[in-house]
Amino acid sequence: PSRGDVHYFGAGPAPLPTSVLESASKALLNYKDKGIGLCEISHRSAEANEILARTRACLSTLLDVPDNYEILFLQSGGSGEFSAVVFNIVANWVERRRKVAETELAVSGTAGEQLEKNVFARLKKEVDEELKLDYLVTGSWSLKASQEAARLVGAKHINVALDARRSNDGKFGKIPDESEWTLTPTVAGRGPALVYYCDNETVDGVEFPHFPSCLESPSGSEDDGPLVVADMSSNFISRRVDVRKFGVIFGGAQKNVGNTGITIAVVRKSLLPPASNMASTSLLRQLGLPVAPVVLDWPTIAKNNSLYNTLPIFDVWIAGQVMEGLVQSYGVKKISGQQEVSDRKAKLIYGVLDKYSQVYTVVPHETVRSRMNICFRVGGGAAEKENAFLDGAEKRGLLGLKGHRSVGGIRASNYNAVSTEGAEKLARYLEDFAQGQ
Ligand code: PLP
Repeated sequence: PSRGDVHYFGAGPAPLPTSVLESASKALLNYKDKGIGLCEISHRSAEANEILARTRACLSTLLDVPDNYEILFLQSGGSGEFSAVVFNIVANWVERRRKVAETELAVSGTAGEQLEKNVFARLKKEVDEELKLDYLVTGSWSLKASQEAARLVGAKHINVALDARRSNDGKFGKIPDESEWTLTPTVAGRGPALVYYCDNETVDGVEFPHFPSCLESPSGSEDDGPLVVADMSSNFISRRVDVRKFGVIFGGAQKNVGNTGITIAVVRKSLLPPASNMASTSLLRQLGLPVAPVVLDWPTIAKNNSLYNTLPIFDVWIAGQVMEGLVQSYGVKKISGQQEVSDRKAKLIYGVLDKYSQVYTVVPHETVRSRMNICFRVGGGAAEKENAFLDGAEKRGLLGLKGHRSVGGIRASNYNAVSTEGAEKLARYLEDFAQGQ
């Protein structure tokens, strides 16, 4: 089949707008008539710098990224950021606590080596008793992130404030009421070092309907309330986000933003102290805490304009083209324009699934259904029914519908590049298949 005959619903890598791919094929061969292709030019060239700046500007426009946030392009993948979050936030936590300890203990008249010793003793105690990273586990990816955090700093420092499987027969698919979450309490302004969640769980089809109320800063200031970190890999730039509510947002590009190869992190600048140095890494080591590999050290990446090492500029360019397309399509509506389209397509598909509930079972609970990854079972999960469903879909050019290998079933990923026409064709097929049962 040719491209136009197929609608692809894969969960990532995912489809890209055809117009972007057409320009990309030209850019690969001969970028801007320079006689050389985009994969061949230096990441330190003027062209590369322009691509970086434009891509950043598009993201800033779409999401209204405030000036006190840095946009970083990384090659870590979403999984690499699971680790980066821990390394960077823990290092930042230690540095803040060190400064406070130094100021407070100096008041008592100590100085020099004795002060250093006292500061260290206090920090050691604080790490031991107070360092807690809170994780809301609502699906496979937040589970992995929490496991990575435990691997890096030790399970004793990880507080799984919510394991959504507990109230749902051991399976993901629900987000229990906030009153059931057991966040590390904040006492005298000191609470968890971070609260982490995955905004959209790609495998389980669970999406947070909105920012959790209990994580709101009481005064609206960044110095108040917990430091919130969100993995938005699979719903990035698909709906409005108030960036100010987050310390860090990150996501791999290969779903809504571009092709595999880059990860974007939007990091509050106050979390980027001077790049790690010998003194700070030595302190972390003495405290028994991990030191980030330099390519995961956000301050180093930020200081080098995301060019600490060779960045795949072609991948950044693709992301830039995709985002520029959204900026142009939606104008002043910005990301709200995309949100309306995404919501409409998701509603259409869920509408048919609900209409034929004797044939289809939507996996997640109604209140947390993902607009991006629509997970359902056919015939109660009977293999022959689901295979027949997939075969019939393929005959109509509807591809990439098989669910994740860990959970099975069907998953229709409804990312930005899935056209309304594609969603309509899928909805029609869902109707036809159900009527044939
Ligand atoms: N987070 C989410 C929500 C994902 O869907 C994925 C991958 O599908 C990841 C993280 C991991 O990303 P990567 O494969 O780029 O490491």
